Amino acid sequence: AEEVGGEDKEVVKDYFNNSGFQRWKKIYGETDDVNRVQRDIRLGHAKTVENAIKMLTDEGQLRGVTVCDAGCGTGSLSIPLAKEGAIVSASDISAAMVAEAEKQAKEQLLGGKDDPSVAPVIPKFEVRDLESLDGKYHTVVCLDVLIHYPQSKADGMIAHLASLAEKRLILSFAPKTFYYDLLKRVGELFPGPSKATRAYLHSEADVERALRKVGWRITKRGLIATQFYFAKLVEAVPA
Ligand code: SAM
Repeated sequence: AEEVGGEDKEVVKDYFNNSGFQRWKKIYGETDDVNRVQRDIRLGHAKTVENAIKMLTDEGQLRGVTVCDAGCGTGSLSIPLAKEGAIVSASDISAAMVAEAEKQAKEQLLGGKDDPSVAPVIPKFEVRDLESLDGKYHTVVCLDVLIHYPQSKADGMIAHLASLAEKRLILSFAPKTFYYDLLKRVGELFPGPSKATRAYLHSEADVERALRKVGWRITKRGLIATQFYFAKLVEAVPA
């Protein structure tokens, strides 16, 4: 099983350094050169980020709170968290993603703010797969990453992410309940060979079991659904 997982990871890394980087940079960006489906996914993902920030700030201000953003992509979450004053450690398996996130963080966080007392701390960026992250963080967040891995692999990833978190872990994943609906839509959208990587759906029960196995329990749940984007968002804490 480890072998298979390892293979998946190499494929995912290669994808997000090449065609996947181009595709997702566009979806996560603000330019107009997106098609209807990509625009819908952009909207759904923005809602996931917004809901995650809501979950995070619900419990109080983020100023000075350490946050690990595992699989940070282009920085969609890391940058707003830094604006809230969080001390962000952002990492991704893709060097292309990390470079883009760092570029955007500098543009968005350093531009025109000259009062040092309110200046956000620029996230610390690192090219790293989440399985090899270490250290301790108040909060660990991992958005839309598990979709690239089968449940057998996701179990270990969830356990590792929980081990890095002192107070809470926030995860998003594509829920299995939409499986057939999704398949149908994907079938309609990509009649020929699809350029996307394989997507794995996870049942909430499986994610919950993986968390419970390492002594964590789910405290908040949310569902984000647009036409072509589905994500379940959960917050967990040590039980
Ligand atoms: N979390 C970001 C967001 O929501 O904007 C990006 C989501 S994107 C769909 C998935 C990201 O996970 C990609 O940037 C990819 O390179 C990264 N990724 C995939 N597998 C990873 C792993 N094992 N460790 C760290 N990052 C990974």
